[in-house]
Amino acid sequence: MSDQKPPFSSLPISDPLLPNPPFSLFLTSSDHNPNPNPSYDLLLSFHGKRKRTGVHRKAPLSVIHQPKAPPPPLPPATLEPDGVKNLPVKPNFSDLSEDIIVINKEATNEALTALTAGFPADSLTEEEIEFGVVSSVGGIEQVNYILIRNHILSRWRENVSNWLTKEDFVGILPSHCEPLLNSAYNFLVSHGYANFGVAPAIKAKVPAEPTKANVVIVGAGLAGLAAARQLMMFGFKVVVLEGRKRCGGRVYTKRMEGLNKFAAADLGGSVLTGTHGNPLGIIAKQLGSSLHKVRDKCPLYRPDGKPVDPELDIKVESAFNRLLDKASRLRQCMGEVAMDVSLGSALETFRQVYGDAVTEEEMSLFNWHLANLEYANAGLLSKLSLAFWDQDDPYDMGGDHCFLPGGNGRLVQALSESVPIVYEKTVHTIRYGADGVQVIVAGGQVYEGEMALCTVPLGVLKNGSIKFAPELPQRKLDGIKRLGFGLLNKVAMLFPHVFWSTDIDTFGHLSEDPSHRGEFFLFYSYASVAGGPLLIALVAGEAAHSFESMSPTDAVTKVLRILRGIYEPQGIDVPDPLQSVCTRWGTDSFSLGSYSNVAVGASGDDYDILAETVGDGRLFFAGEATMRRYPATMHGAFLSGLREAANVAQHANARSSNIKIEVSPSKNTQSCAALLEDLFREPDIEFGSFSVIFSGSNSDPKSTAILRVAFGGSKRRNNSDGTKADQQHSNKVLFQQLHSHYNQQQQLHVYTLLSRQQALELREVRGGDDMRLYHLCEKIGVKLVGRRGLGPAADSVIASIKAGRGNRRPVRVALRVKKEKGSK
Ligand SMILES: Cc1cc2nc3c(=O)[nH]c(=O)nc-3n(C[C@H](O)[C@H](O)[C@H](O)COP(=O)(O)OP(=O)(O)OC[C@H]3O[C@@H](n4cnc5c(N)ncnc54)[C@H](O)[C@@H]3O)c2cc1C
Repeated sequence: MSDQKPPFSSLPISDPLLPNPPFSLFLTSSDHNPNPNPSYDLLLSFHGKRKRTGVHRKAPLSVIHQPKAPPPPLPPATLEPDGVKNLPVKPNFSDLSEDIIVINKEATNEALTALTAGFPADSLTEEEIEFGVVSSVGGIEQVNYILIRNHILSRWRENVSNWLTKEDFVGILPSHCEPLLNSAYNFLVSHGYANFGVAPAIKAKVPAEPTKANVVIVGAGLAGLAAARQLMMFGFKVVVLEGRKRCGGRVYTKRMEGLNKFAAADLGGSVLTGTHGNPLGIIAKQLGSSLHKVRDKCPLYRPDGKPVDPELDIKVESAFNRLLDKASRLRQCMGEVAMDVSLGSALETFRQVYGDAVTEEEMSLFNWHLANLEYANAGLLSKLSLAFWDQDDPYDMGGDHCFLPGGNGRLVQALSESVPIVYEKTVHTIRYGADGVQVIVAGGQVYEGEMALCTVPLGVLKNGSIKFAPELPQRKLDGIKRLGFGLLNKVAMLFPHVFWSTDIDTFGHLSEDPSHRGEFFLFYSYASVAGGPLLIALVAGEAAHSFESMSPTDAVTKVLRILRGIYEPQGIDVPDPLQSVCTRWGTDSFSLGSYSNVAVGASGDDYDILAETVGDGRLFFAGEATMRRYPATMHGAFLSGLREAANVAQHANARSSNIKIEVSPSKNTQSCAALLEDLFREPDIEFGSFSVIFSGSNSDPKSTAILRVAFGGSKRRNNSDGTKADQQHSNKVLFQQLHSHYNQQQQLHVYTLLSRQQALELREVRGGDDMRLYHLCEKIGVKLVGRRGLGPAADSVIASIKAGRGNRRPVRVALRVKKEKGSK
């Protein structure tokens, strides 16, 4: 990390922490002008799931989940300025007025501020419900709570260097609202929504002597550092074990130098994607740093170095956006089936069907857009889930994309200050159990604690580099396997002088070869923020993988060829760089990839699964790949650390208050999915690609059964005799279209409910699977759906089949807190 402090010249921008005017939040997609001139006004998919800012993103399949009924509340831990107190006392709401309070005239603006921090305008989050912020969900008390919560948040955002106290609200809120003030304040501070960061007033709240449990944190990236700081503030004793010689993990600012030129190069996370509510924007503000808005202008250059024709650019970009829209609509029709189809196959199918991008130049432009999408997702489009690749879009932070002048290492440096980090401690085993945890590092040294927080990247978990004892629950192992972890690499070059235009921050280059579409497809100019003439070239998609074995000399030679192709015809000499650095995030043993994505077969649920605590509140997980709403980002990693600090504190409080945390079957869809999967391991009858499970032990022909049809994989049967029938059925046609491009070997499962008699009838249909499918859909008239499409009606059938089959272990579990006798 660079410790240099160059004289940065950042552009003045509006306050990044203030929300947009309200109207911008309520624009519908049709209100936007997508991009009048894509060549020069192209908003890029600066990673962080702003896939193509110019495109109208449709609401994804997954909707923001708002629980209808509150789960049993965890005991609220009241928090005093000194940290978390072990007082699991439920706030007394009984004397609350039934009237909606008026705090000031800023309720709408305050709601917007809350929205940017991830709070819905008119309802509670799951976290709040779990924390027990109100005595009952949905009433006037909740409305008042939300007003107070929004007000506290807004007050803190006005001055993020301040430590806000409850007393600051005396005289502002009606006195009968004190319990709600306590509740909102305690929630916001204990969960890291207010009073967090590196401002002196906040640092001063860290107690001189920790009084609480020992927590061993594995990894000193943003997640580990955020968690460590919070836990220290709460009074926990913390040690951070880091395998590298430095902290920051995938945020790494390298100081580059040569011939008296210096620059701070962000080799990992660089762009703060959306500054509204972005906690790293808050840290930057606490450090007194202004952010540099990444300007939208992004000229594109053809493989021969000539600028792309603006008209063609508009045409191809519009076509690309149309295809993305179509893919989005298709998945809506397909429901859960889209989970098993790749975004790449859907886009390619549509491109061919609609005849978009047919000339060579159009194709290379089209491929540039695909590369841009692969960059945003750090993943091959052929491996991204059509259904859920953009599941986090609704949570986009909003606001500008920005660079932090001097590099994000400045954030890391500030966050790591006074945190006890032990470097070059590569963890190979984490043991956890009722007595606590043991974290064992290379060389055999053992670190003991009451709890451990694992923040290593998904690539490290996938690789099995850390042994967990006992082994992690199967559902977590499955989630680790399902989620994708892709690759993005960079070439950073420090030049003797700036030869490119200084009124741009980015420019793109097209490739002739589709398999190299991501190779140096985008350049970032860091000249205005790095302190020197620095250019960074990006390598995404397939090219990012082959880049790992390319020699640095070859890589730089290729980049220079591109730059000279662009600039020399303009009469501009391109000098050799003074220093160059090529990243290898894929072979870096502490990362093994760049960031996570939703691969075919995975969903947003997997992020939640990765975040789940295991071992009765002993082993916790944070990191970008545990952050369903903000995965693959720096702010997501940071927020996951704050989340887990709150979680650790809550479990520690529960334990010290003699509150037992027990597991009970979860009602979530994941649990049903796993149960269904389990049940179909032993179907009651099987024929061709069809399998059936029957409910009830009796043989009542009217009793309900669940039928599953498998497409793809080894069970797929091709029958030629049902072609006519196939074409009559839309389900089948849809599958055929997509499967012709479906290059995954996974099986695709669709389901329906039917009677036992209908299932038996189906078994007797002759002519193979295709005729059976025709019979099922046309004669019986059922609709095949994805697992979730089965709906609640299926839940009771699943439960009764499960019950009928005896005591197989429920696979999906969720935490529930139960007070033991004698506890307070
Ligand atoms: C090339 C690239 C570009 C990116 N661009 C952006 C961007 O523009 N904007 C954005 O928001 N995000 C970006 N990201 C993503 C962002 O950097 C990450 O999401 C974030 O930094 C992850 O933080 P983390 O704490 O979850 O993990 P990490 O930062 O990876 O931290 C985990 C830590 O664990 C350590 N560790 C691993 N294994 C062990 C072990 N066995 N024992 C001990 N320690 C271990 C690692 O060394 C590391 O320090 C980019 C990432 C990359 C790689």
